[in-house]
Amino acid sequence: MIFIFGANDKVIEQRQSYQQEHCYNCNNTTHWTLEKNATFASLFFISVFPIKTRYIYYCPICRNGRQLEKEEYERMR
Ligand SMILES: [Zn+2]
Repeated sequence: MIFIFGANDKVIEQRQSYQQEHCYNCNNTTHWTLEKNATFASLFFISVFPIKTRYIYYCPICRNGRQLEKEEYERMR
């Protein structure tokens, strides 16, 4: 029997921030996107469990942004 293991990224949660943020990369002021995503271990192309979770906050226009700590992310929602 052959097992096929892999990993794939999934967006778990995505929302708009309440306050507007100015982006120095594209010079727009807009509501940035708060996103939680994770890399899942998969078996036969089915996601089984998350290996790594990331919290990111970025400009929806040029996708310039930064990574957040979990606590920081929770505070902003
Ligand atoms: Zn931007």
